[in-house]
Amino acid sequence: MKEVWVFIEQEENKIHPVSFELLGIANTLAEDLSGRIAGVILGSEVDNLAPEVLAYGAHKVYLVEHDCLKYYRHRPYAKALSDLAKKYHPEILLLGATPLGRDLAGGVATLLETGLTADVTELSIEKETGYLLMTRPAYGGNIMATIVCPHHRPQMATVRPRIFSVPERKENPKGEIIKEKIDLSEDLAGIERLNFIPKEKTVNLEYADVVVAGGKGIGGKREFEKLKELAELLSAELGASRLAVESGWISYEHQVGQTGKTVRPKVYLAFGISGAIQHRAGMQNSDFIIAVNTDKGAPIFKIADMGILGDWKVVAEALISALKKE
Ligand code: FAD
Repeated sequence: MKEVWVFIEQEENKIHPVSFELLGIANTLAEDLSGRIAGVILGSEVDNLAPEVLAYGAHKVYLVEHDCLKYYRHRPYAKALSDLAKKYHPEILLLGATPLGRDLAGGVATLLETGLTADVTELSIEKETGYLLMTRPAYGGNIMATIVCPHHRPQMATVRPRIFSVPERKENPKGEIIKEKIDLSEDLAGIERLNFIPKEKTVNLEYADVVVAGGKGIGGKREFEKLKELAELLSAELGASRLAVESGWISYEHQVGQTGKTVRPKVYLAFGISGAIQHRAGMQNSDFIIAVNTDKGAPIFKIADMGILGDWKVVAEALISALKKE
């Protein structure tokens, strides 16, 4: 039976949310192929994660535990994952388009001599051929390209976080846990991890509950400081439109949209953002959208749950002073 594999990204025994999102889409793909879903967990002392993977829809889990896999390093991980794939021949292998997933996927595709589509935003099975259709923005986002891998297996893709939703968690899931041994050694790693120093503050836009975003209508770099103050009071992350990024007011890691990040917060506040289709592509699945704009014809109002016609600064200052009083 054909298998759709999801690489379960874990760090320090915590599963990255993108892996659950991938189990959700894997379920749709496996149904179309009349196949099964398997999660692949690599690490050291990570067997406690296997029931979680089954709870989110996997029929089986391949588990490889080894001291060399305690921390992510490219070569041992790439060998373990590719050796497993050589043994079990999955039809499809999906990884999150995270820094780790991006690093790992290229090496695995090379070892398996198959193709890889990076940064995918849509996945489906073509009925006539059974091929995986992998769609992603190409040429700077100017076109959406659909890529197939007809001759080699597995069909591999890295998938952007927050594109697919997390499936419902099942209580008392049933499934198989297959423990595999892979021959690995420290020599293979090539590097030794001496210490891990986390970045002081990382932008975690994709998984933020609240996003405060600013666009060209904000007017400048200094004005973004005001939005930052509001974001801090709301424990929100700061987002931006591409024009704000291109104007040099804020760094690219804050960009939301087709060529930026995809977000799904509970609340998305858009200040001075017109709502161009490329921006909406990255935020239209937010639960509640509040838009502040001086132009009543701005397209953002068409998707907003609450629209405020007015100057962003007046609204932002009123919110800041109300939150400070709390
Ligand atoms: P504008 O469209 O200029 O809108 C500014 C808004 O601010 C206006 O609606 C105006 O009425 C309002 N405004 C002005 N003054 C005030 C005020 N005082 N108070 C309140 N409102 C005010 N864009 C993205 O955002 N993300 C992407 O990933 C992205 N990718 C792209 C990829 C491609 C291939 C292309 C061609 C474009 C892409 N774009 C992307 C750009 C996109 O088409 C728009 O140009 C961009 O989103 C517009 O940014 P904006 O809304 O900040 O600016």
